[in-house]
Amino acid sequence: MPSLDLDIVPALSRALDEDALVLHFQPEVDLASGAVVGMEALLRWQHPQRGLLWPADFLAVADGAGLMPALGWWVLEHCAAELESWRPLPPTVDGAHRQLWVNISGSQLLEPGFVDRVAELVHECALPPGVLGIEVTEEALASGSRSAPALLEALRDVGVALAIDDFGSWYSSLGTLGELPLEAVKLDQSFVRGVGSDLEGDSIVSSVIELAHAHGVRVVAEGVESWSEGARLCELGCDRALGYLFSGPQRAEQARLMLAHGTGWQGAGRVPQPRDRRTLHRL
Ligand code: C2E
Ligand code: MG
Ligand code: MG
Repeated sequence: MPSLDLDIVPALSRALDEDALVLHFQPEVDLASGAVVGMEALLRWQHPQRGLLWPADFLAVADGAGLMPALGWWVLEHCAAELESWRPLPPTVDGAHRQLWVNISGSQLLEPGFVDRVAELVHECALPPGVLGIEVTEEALASGSRSAPALLEALRDVGVALAIDDFGSWYSSLGTLGELPLEAVKLDQSFVRGVGSDLEGDSIVSSVIELAHAHGVRVVAEGVESWSEGARLCELGCDRALGYLFSGPQRAEQARLMLAHGTGWQGAGRVPQPRDRRTLHRL
């Protein structure tokens, strides 16, 4: 357990009360078409003295201090409001809803009443089924006493899409694909680094994709940074991706622009050249 930073804990509680937390949103891209199909919400904290802090600066301490459920509810409620603000956006090409994915910690997931409270949020904000997505790590699922399939099934039944985050970074990975009601797995960055450069990396990723597809589960690659990674993942049949190649996490207004106009990635057939990439980050 991380040692508690006595300065951070009360300051973080105050930040929650004073709304000093911030959400950034990272585009999720359909690799074949280049369409921005959704976003992942990533938490930041605008600290009065230290500037903008990232999760690595405060999440472990928040977890140790028992603040994760409160932080998680702040995130979920703000994401539901963000989804409401997406309603005026032009419709997508295929008419599908854009999804917003939220990271949920093990301590929040296993909180009594979690599913009921999520159901209330979905109902109150009239969110269409599957528009709000919840991502959990296998490690978080393994830490609970309630069986993971039952918990995830209850969440799916209240209209939430489910994904396993950092897929492959936990020992039980492949077995979970057929057991859980998943819409997607998010392939850990460590696998993404291997594609396009060595045969072993390609064959691991290709086996995961094949197995996931056999269970009707979509594969989303995380942390895609290079042209070769993006193009090779698409060739291997990976469905979607996030990463600096397309766009880093953005403030809400910028993220909405990207939902409406794209990131500049035009699908695997038209990999943008490095000059275009600089323009993308200034969008
Ligand atoms: P994650 O959910 O796996 O999120 C992906 C992380 O990779 C994010 O780091 C993102 O900024 C970073 N990333 C995105 N594209 C690239 C890339 O191309 N290359 C590299 N190297 N990194 C990339 P971030 O924002 O620092 O978040 C770290 C972790 O903190 C997240 O990992 C997630 O586990 C956790 N987290 C973030 N926001 C929340 C939240 O609201 N609630 C909870 N419980 N956890 C959160
Ligand atoms: Mg995530
Ligand atoms: Mg991840």
